[in-house]
Amino acid sequence: MGAGEREQRDTRMSKKRIIIVGGGFAGVKCAQELARKLKAEEAEIVLFNSENHLVFSPLLAEVVGSSVSPMDVIVPLRQMLPRAFCRTEEVQGVNLEKNEVEYQSEQGETKQMAYDHLVLACGNVTNLNAVPGMADHAFALKTVGDAANLRSHIMEQMEKAEVAEKQERRCWHLSFVIVGGGFSGAEAAGEINDLVRSSTKYFKSFKREDVSVNLIHSRDQILPEISPGLREFAKRKMEKAGVNIIMNARVISATPEGVTLDDGKIIKGGTVVCTVGNSPAPLLARINVAKEKWRLVTEGDMRLKGSKNVWAVGDCGYIINSLDNQPAATTGQFAEREGRQCAENIVRVLHNEPTKPFYFKQLGELCSIGGHSAVADLFGMHLSGFFAWFVWRGVYLFKLPTFGRRLQVGFDWAWLLLFPRDLAHMRTRQTDRVSHAHFAPGDVIINKGDPPSHFYVIEKGEVEVVRATEKDPKGEVVAVLGSGSFFGEKALLSNEPRVATVRARTQVEVLMLGKNVFTQISGALAPLRDALAQTLNRRNTDAWKGQPEVYELLKGTSLKEIMESVPQPLLRPSATMTEVSRAFVESNNEFFYVSGDGKTLEGVVTITDLLRGRASGATGSTPVGEFMTKNPVALSEDDDCAVVAAAIREYRLKSLPIVAGKDDRTLKGCIRVRRLMAFVFRELRNGSDEAPKAADGAIRTIEATKAATGQTG
Ligand SMILES: Cc1cc2nc3c(=O)[nH]c(=O)nc-3n(C[C@H](O)[C@H](O)[C@H](O)COP(=O)(O)OP(=O)(O)OC[C@H]3O[C@@H](n4cnc5c(N)ncnc54)[C@H](O)[C@@H]3O)c2cc1C
Repeated sequence: MGAGEREQRDTRMSKKRIIIVGGGFAGVKCAQELARKLKAEEAEIVLFNSENHLVFSPLLAEVVGSSVSPMDVIVPLRQMLPRAFCRTEEVQGVNLEKNEVEYQSEQGETKQMAYDHLVLACGNVTNLNAVPGMADHAFALKTVGDAANLRSHIMEQMEKAEVAEKQERRCWHLSFVIVGGGFSGAEAAGEINDLVRSSTKYFKSFKREDVSVNLIHSRDQILPEISPGLREFAKRKMEKAGVNIIMNARVISATPEGVTLDDGKIIKGGTVVCTVGNSPAPLLARINVAKEKWRLVTEGDMRLKGSKNVWAVGDCGYIINSLDNQPAATTGQFAEREGRQCAENIVRVLHNEPTKPFYFKQLGELCSIGGHSAVADLFGMHLSGFFAWFVWRGVYLFKLPTFGRRLQVGFDWAWLLLFPRDLAHMRTRQTDRVSHAHFAPGDVIINKGDPPSHFYVIEKGEVEVVRATEKDPKGEVVAVLGSGSFFGEKALLSNEPRVATVRARTQVEVLMLGKNVFTQISGALAPLRDALAQTLNRRNTDAWKGQPEVYELLKGTSLKEIMESVPQPLLRPSATMTEVSRAFVESNNEFFYVSGDGKTLEGVVTITDLLRGRASGATGSTPVGEFMTKNPVALSEDDDCAVVAAAIREYRLKSLPIVAGKDDRTLKGCIRVRRLMAFVFRELRNGSDEAPKAADGAIRTIEATKAATGQTG
């Protein structure tokens, strides 16, 4: 080894590399402090962050309320951290044995980078998947993109309310639901309330009274972080400003219409904002170390338990504050202080000095609640109202990371004291797209008479097609569709208004294809075109034409009258193909129901399924759960025989499972086509003495089954 090479290696060995993952409050403060305390030759600081900026989250609600511009709440990391090597890249994994982080390079290759010290400061993410439908229908409030999108959506709702023809629809556009009464939920509710109510004077079709802002919180007090007196004040102030606060309530599902609470109450609204459901950043799930409620458990000095050189700070760390031996709060204030003290401890380790445990006495809490009002708990003093709001603004202005941002935000705020908020918005809605939607039982998915906009594929659950007549405006169920089925094609293909109403029968997940996407795919994909043509043909043919008496008979007959008992034995999903084949041979059954608990319908298996399974590579040991028809359409005991006939026709079935209720798939029995046919034949013959007519009616009822090749036939 030459002298130059040795020297270079010596320098590299003495110069330490400190990698920070996350450019939020904690990571940035840590990097700034390291840069201040360590010379460039002592340490190289590398900061990985998914975006190229820090988000000043306490002002995100102000972006939503149009009080500041989205660009004012983000600060470019490289301008704040000139000493650090800022990499806008996502860290994919950490190899704790090799002291390396793994990341994806800009060309998509997996690369490794070694570290001497690693600081994990990756915060948390909002998990909208915890509540059915939330991911499809609610806005999160975590990133500047979330805030800007929500702001545009609110403006769009006001524009739609202005031109809505029906008052009910107008109020729906002007109804806002905010889930979570912590800091971010309360601030968002206050800002939205202020923005929409103060803007009503620019619109002709609605007034302040038409606006409703609902804040839903699972506990008996909002803002659990602040003192009870201030909470009460905040609640009173917000209610006086028009915010409807619903406490001790949990949202159990979200749909395009609004949210359903755990007591069954439905809060309708065109905008749902979810500020709850914090969960770990994906990287944390991939690191196998001690965790407490997904946060990384640290020693007192913020090193991961059992590690000498890996640290966790901010929202992702479970850190005990040595001031009171309590876990540190997940707030910006704590994150900054942890970042700073972590940097100090790293410097101590590099200088062979003992580290210190994390210690922080909180300065106070501040929360803006809208209407130029805030609540504050500062240095032990409780402030509320306009003065607290003024202090709130002053503190956050001072806390903004750069002088330039302070000037911009200060200017925005001063401007708003003199002029109204800006109601212009960028059009964020995409022209056409594929999306998911969740509907609760009873929700209307398509309304008769609506213009066609989407094609729907049922992923989970069941819907019912309802046809209203002048005699019966509420409508009667004419068909039930289950998972794998589709609807909405007729109006799209003919470009005419919807001819029937479709509503959710159970909890339903649907895939929605916008008009243009549907037209392009159905035009180009021959199998889909054929399936659509066949379905249209089937659905367009009036099975009851010339046979109104058959329809009347079936309509007036409860399916219990012709229901048979559940065919035995019930198979378990783990039953193998060999066992299923044997069951068919021994029992003479045409189908079996599959149930894990011996009660609930999970699937159905026919000989056709068996053969299909075999053809697609299943072996004797393959469990039936893998080749059965999962979650087949099922009717409930309170349905009538006309719906049975429609389902049989739609699905070309020879039998239908009957379950306890729309949302209860406990097996109760089955209906076979032959029995239905015999019933029609017998009843009509008894009534009219016209055997041929009766037979014709019966045959028409199940005409589709003559060519049955479908799921269970
Ligand atoms: C709407 C809202 C309002 C709030 N209001 C207040 C308030 O008034 N007062 C208060 O004290 N606190 C408030 N908070 C909480 C505060 O913002 C957080 O406690 C704080 O941001 C936590 O800082 P952090 O550095 O731990 O994480 P974050 O600020 O979340 O930063 C983490 C960063 O890490 C990045 N990252 C994650 N994984 C990776 C990876 N694998 N690779 C690269 N980068 C990654 C993320 O993109 C993100 O930029 C609010 C939060 C929100 C959402």
